[in-house]
Amino acid sequence: MQSLTLTNEQLNRMIAHVNALAPLEACGLLAGRDSRVETVIEVTNQAQSPVRYVMDPLEQLQAFERIESQGLDLLGIFHSHPAGPETVSPTDIAEAAYAVVHVILSRAGGVWRARGFWIEDGAYREVTLHVL
Ligand SMILES: [Zn+2]
Repeated sequence: MQSLTLTNEQLNRMIAHVNALAPLEACGLLAGRDSRVETVIEVTNQAQSPVRYVMDPLEQLQAFERIESQGLDLLGIFHSHPAGPETVSPTDIAEAAYAVVHVILSRAGGVWRARGFWIEDGAYREVTLHVL
């Protein structure tokens, strides 16, 4: 996937979620069609950690069922790096289990910023996020 399109409202919803849970990492799913996000689904970070995330398995399963029942595709997984960095971590690369865009919300100087990445074969490249 070369790019992911989302609305400013969806971006703000992700930021509100991760900001509320900082300094712990927070996470969630992005579902939609044709690289256009239609739904943001927050998922509990079972790890309750400032440096990693593990999606609550039951919530993740329920989210997958909801996405499928709505005829949408899983397009992305978002999670936060409350203390940076802006890019994916070695842990993110090691634990990437889905061929979707990984959106990292990082915080620096109190300001959140979002960047998208594609992780494959132990490496990553940036995916453009189009915010409408
Ligand atoms: Zn990470």
